[in-house]
Amino acid sequence: MRYNRQIVLPQIDLDGQEKICRAKVLIIGMGGLGTAVAQSLCGSGVGNLTLVDDDVVNATNLPRQWLYSDNQCGMPKVAAAKEKLAMINRECVIDTVDERLTKPALQALSESHQVIVDCTDNLAARRLNNEVSWQTNTPLVSGAAVRFEGQLFVSIPHTKMPCYGCLEQRFTQTELSCTETGILSPVVSLIGVSQAQLVLQILTGFGVLPVGKLTVFDGLHFQWHSFTIPPNAHCQVCQTQPAEQL
Ligand SMILES: [Zn+2]
Repeated sequence: MRYNRQIVLPQIDLDGQEKICRAKVLIIGMGGLGTAVAQSLCGSGVGNLTLVDDDVVNATNLPRQWLYSDNQCGMPKVAAAKEKLAMINRECVIDTVDERLTKPALQALSESHQVIVDCTDNLAARRLNNEVSWQTNTPLVSGAAVRFEGQLFVSIPHTKMPCYGCLEQRFTQTELSCTETGILSPVVSLIGVSQAQLVLQILTGFGVLPVGKLTVFDGLHFQWHSFTIPPNAHCQVCQTQPAEQL
């Protein structure tokens, strides 16, 4: 009865909670986004989380990466996260990968997970996650946050909807790092928790998933905006690998 408050929601019900409890979710990047995603999914009852990050906990992480505490500074992030998540929900099985994944390693891992959650902070990793999502037919939930701004994007491979590459080409995303530009603590957590909701929607099918839409949070005006992104006919990820060839 631990999950009673979710089960009473008719859109979730016992059936939806069972899907959540059986799910395996891959979280890439355990910074501000990844820690918020992991805490929310672990609490919600996701059965298995795999955490990927090669970084260690630093004091400058603590204002927004609330999963970690002072005494964990210097620890690998994935080990520190596992320790804390076990205290939140011991029913959640946590696997950890303390290294930057090569493409073959990421492909192998993606094949055994139902959703990839992109919580990385650089374009190269985002491109790799998108390619692997499409190649392994694994839904991708991307989040990003910098300064007072956040963005969310869901890609479901082989649905004739755009992939993250289509979005990136349209907006020519600049590589902004939180180290140089700053980030407001609640903004990154808000985006991370939103990614967790999108994962639950994919796992259980409740509500309307914003596939093909870029959702942007403007923290200076406290407003959400949504933009429809058409597939890019020249996208090298989703337009060169039609579903029937897989
Ligand atoms: Zn594309």
